[in-house]
Amino acid sequence: MDAPYARLEQVETGIARVLAHNPSAFTYYGTQTYLIGEREVAVVDPGPNLPHHLEALLNAIAGRPVTAIMCTHTHRDHSPASRPLTEATGAPIIGCAPLAMDGTGLEAGFDSDYAPNHVLADGDEVAVDGKPIVAVATPGHTSNHLCFAYGDVLLTGDHVMGWSTTVVVPPDGDMAEYMHSLDRLRRREDRIYYPAHGPAVTNPRQYVRHLLGHRMQREKQILRLVGEQSRDIPDIVAKAYPGLDPRLVAAAGGSVLAHLVDLERRGLVERREQQWTAV
Ligand SMILES: [Zn+2]
Repeated sequence: MDAPYARLEQVETGIARVLAHNPSAFTYYGTQTYLIGEREVAVVDPGPNLPHHLEALLNAIAGRPVTAIMCTHTHRDHSPASRPLTEATGAPIIGCAPLAMDGTGLEAGFDSDYAPNHVLADGDEVAVDGKPIVAVATPGHTSNHLCFAYGDVLLTGDHVMGWSTTVVVPPDGDMAEYMHSLDRLRRREDRIYYPAHGPAVTNPRQYVRHLLGHRMQREKQILRLVGEQSRDIPDIVAKAYPGLDPRLVAAAGGSVLAHLVDLERRGLVERREQQWTAV
């Protein structure tokens, strides 16, 4: 596939996107930045700070007023371009909170320079062309993750993606919160999801039910493995993810840890040094 880098794609009336050139094992073809609105625009997930991407965004904005620069969360493939974009357009950065944690113990994937002008709480709105974009709090992938609802469309960031399951890594990532946030989406009636990576999700509720089922299966599998004998995380990953792409082993280990931390809180497993055992 020839990925549409730096091209403005109109996905439906009032919603367009620009793909940034940051492909990886974690970003698929790259980060998709969305432009919401027609006479004026809000930019959702401005993306990585790459000169070509910024240039493509400014071309796409085409001189229209920018109401807000909005980030779903502060991973480095999502929020860094908010700074050159606010400089270039004068628009405020409105959206997710900065990370509550100070960055120590967190992987280098977090944008610690993110500085919003205004933080949106769950249910808060920003109007574009007189139509609201509503923040939907969806912690789990990160503690500060928001989705944005626009009519019957949901911009899902990294909470639900069309190409891969979401990475949930402690200490900032939290499996119980992630599951709760999935359940939140399951009870909504969105028509379509536009994620930051990968294709649109056109059967949202069915897809979210599938994701919930997948995580519950994974939890059962981990419980069974640590019920057989004490195991460390690399051992669990080797058994639970046979044939895994080596680039994804660390992320799988993070997700296994997220499940184990959740199970430990619920009193179902205990940890001694690096070894985990069912209680
Ligand atoms: Zn992310």
